[in-house]
Parts: sequence; C-alpha cells; structure tokens
Amino acid sequence: MKWEKDAEKIHEMLPIPPMMSPYARLQSEKTARHKGLDHVTAEVLKETEKMYADFMGREKYEQFKAFLNGTGPAPELEDELFFDDESALFFIDTCFTKYGENSELVREALKDMMRSIKSVMEKEKLTEIMADLAVVALHGASRFTVGMTGCPNCCVSPYMKDFGIIMQHRVDITDEECTQCGNCLKMCIDKSIHLTDDGPVINRKTCVQCELCARDCPAGKLTVNERGFRVIAGGAGGRDPCLAKTIEDFTSRDRVLTILKNAIAKLRNARPGESLRTIIDTEGPDAIR
Ligand code: SF4
Ligand code: SF4
Repeated sequence: MKWEKDAEKIHEMLPIPPMMSPYARLQSEKTARHKGLDHVTAEVLKETEKMYADFMGREKYEQFKAFLNGTGPAPELEDELFFDDESALFFIDTCFTKYGENSELVREALKDMMRSIKSVMEKEKLTEIMADLAVVALHGASRFTVGMTGCPNCCVSPYMKDFGIIMQHRVDITDEECTQCGNCLKMCIDKSIHLTDDGPVINRKTCVQCELCARDCPAGKLTVNERGFRVIAGGAGGRDPCLAKTIEDFTSRDRVLTILKNAIAKLRNARPGESLRTIIDTEGPDAIR
C-alpha cells in the first residue's frame, strides 16, 4: 500500500519501541483499508498513535515521546532481567519487561523476583541436582527452565517451562463516578467487563487480572490495590510438549519462593530421568505446595 510523505514522517517519529514499528505499519495499513482508502494518510497515523498509546500505557508512551523530542533519556534495557550464566543448569527467561516495558512497579517487582529465585537456585545447588537427573550428556535441554512474566499475556511461554511465575494485578471498582467513556470495554480483550448505568461490572471468572482496563480509566473508577503471582509448574517444550499446571493463584512473593524450594527438594530426591513434570503428573500439584 502507498503512504503519503507526511504519514511516513509521523510513522518514523511514533513513540513506540523499535520492535513494534513494523507492526504499527501494518496497523496503519489495516486502518486505511477499513476506511476504504488505497493509501495511508497522516490522519490514519493519528489513530495509530492513539491505539499504541492505549496499548502501551501512558507512562511508556510519555517516556518514548520525551526521548524522541530530545527532552528525556533513552528507554533502558533492564540488565538484571537478562539471565546469562552458562555455568548454571538453570535458565530464567523474562518477558518484554526486560526491554523496559511495563510500569516501573512491575519492573522492580520482577527484578526483586529475579534476584530472589537466582539466590534460591544457587543456594539449593540446583545445577548439581539437574546434572544428576540427566541421563544423556549435559546440554542446553538439561537445564531447569523458568519463565517469568509481568502480566498474564505470558510472552516467553511460561506454560512450557519447568516453573512459571506470572504477575497478576487485581482490579477493584472504587466509589468514583464512572464517565461511561468505554475505555475499559475497549481494553478488555477477554470481554470480562460490562457497563451498567451505575458503572463497570467485572466478571471475576473470566478476568485474567491484567490491569489494562484500570490503566486506561480516566476517572479512577477502576484501580489496582493488590498484586500477586500465579505459580505454574511441570510444563515442557521440545519432543514431548505439555502445559504447566497451576500450583497457586494470586500468591505472595514469599510463597513463590517456598514453592520453588519445595520443587527443588522434590528434584533432589528424584531418580535420573525424572523431572518436575513427571513428579506433578504422578503426585499432582500438591507435591510442591
Ligand atoms: S483486568 Fe480483567 S477486566 Fe480488566 S482488562 Fe484485564 S481481563 Fe479485562
Ligand atoms: S474506563 Fe473508567 S470511566 Fe471509562 S467507562 Fe470504564 S470504568 Fe467508566
């Protein structure tokens, strides 16, 4: 599809992470198509910018905007969230939060969790345990894998790791006046909110606790007062994939660490060839609670 010169210029300056730029291009072309246009206009780019501002959240949007205007620092990588230790038989993969995405609160919570789980795995000598469990020459797949994400979007597939830690954000409804703007309906892709004349109602059975609705509520009618973690375990990728089972929902940081220690204790007493997956398949999730 053709692009107006002005649209190209706006696209180059969109306040979004570089990795999102090709997708924002496709998004603009989709909007143009839906408007019956055969080319992308500057007007279309304004809609794209608004969509990505909603999608990324105000904090991130303003940060990228300030950087592009030369009034703010470059968005930084969160070095602590990149795990790179080839002498360890465990591996921790973190979601896009490591590229500076998510709010500062989430970034700090995941950094704290990274330090804590690394420390547990080192103290419990998980590398030696995994080496003893391996039945073939040690290689990348001999590692205990952890997937950690700042929200239930679950980038980095924690459900296919030995151990998964998914941050959850419980949205509460306050006494503030709802303006009926509809932002929350737009942001909830799970369709877990509906609006009544008295304001929003959340379906707790289908809500995945992602906080996107609260992030975009201009009235403060929706807010997050409490955060927790879903712990999952026993997942696997590779030649015989399977999804991890939920061990605990909306649990505290300390409970995450206790469950991890329980899992390592089980592995310490396991036989070569066994894994957290085979233990949970045989004994159920209670084995590590
Ligand atoms: S927190 Fe729940 S209701 Fe709000 S957007 Fe996420 S899934 Fe929907
Ligand atoms: S985003 Fe907030 S103010 Fe807007 S409709 Fe939803 S609850 Fe009401």
